[in-house]
Amino acid sequence: MSNDRIALVTGSNRGIGLEAAKQLSDQGVKVILSGRDRTKLEAVRANWSGKVAPIDIIELDVTKAEDRARAAQKIAEQYGRLDILVNNAGVIVEGEWGQNNSETVSQEDLQTTFGINLFSQVGLTQELLPLLKKSNAGRIVNVSSILGSLAVNADQESGWSAVKPFAYNASKAALNMFTVSLSQSLVGTGVKVNSAHPGWVKTDLGTSAAPMDVTEGAKTVVDLALIENDGPTGQFVHLGEEQPW
Ligand code: NDP
Repeated sequence: MSNDRIALVTGSNRGIGLEAAKQLSDQGVKVILSGRDRTKLEAVRANWSGKVAPIDIIELDVTKAEDRARAAQKIAEQYGRLDILVNNAGVIVEGEWGQNNSETVSQEDLQTTFGINLFSQVGLTQELLPLLKKSNAGRIVNVSSILGSLAVNADQESGWSAVKPFAYNASKAALNMFTVSLSQSLVGTGVKVNSAHPGWVKTDLGTSAAPMDVTEGAKTVVDLALIENDGPTGQFVHLGEEQPW
């Protein structure tokens, strides 16, 4: 596969997004860093330890329609195509871990969570699809979570709790539906869409209690971004293993 692929990673100023961007650059991919705060992205670029330096920085708050449109326009003008989109930016709102179940969750927390974890991913992907279709190997990776698996949550023996954090779990279940739906509508185009479960990873979101470091946590995301043309589409994957929806 061509070695000069171009990737956009959302929320690549820290956590899994930053590490995925570095690992992609180690594979020769030209990465466009993006995030809400240009200063943080400039600092990331200044301290870059990946193989290929990032080719660009785009200020992109994924919840803002004008940012999404401007990002697509800039990539179209500068590069004419996009090979890899990693929809990584995501949140779990303050207090969700301990408090929000489906009996108590507020409309505000639902709206915030779905706004970032679903609506933005759909909106940005739609803006960038014409550019991904111009690639020989368009790849979309939706960074999901096993907490969004209905099958795992419904299995009370699984060790995962369907009860909390409700807004986060529901937003990732909906993101998984986006993966399934979009992958089916793109069959025949060459663009592949998959959901990644990174694992429980030590980041601000995952907390220091998580067992996995960010190097391993970014691996599933990077693998799915680099799958060959005969690789899967419409799957939910963790470290090469298909996960139940
Ligand atoms: P972090 O909290 O470390 O990083 C979250 C990233 O998302 C930051 O770069 C943040 O930017 C960015 N972000 C948040 N809101 C926006 C926005 N509106 N626009 C643009 N960027 C935004 O979390 P992780 O690295 O752990 O999480 C990355 C993804 O992995 C998420 O989708 C998460 O749900 C998923 N995941 C994580 C797991 C874990 O254990 N860590 C487990 C399963 C899934 P800023 O610095 O500006 O806030």
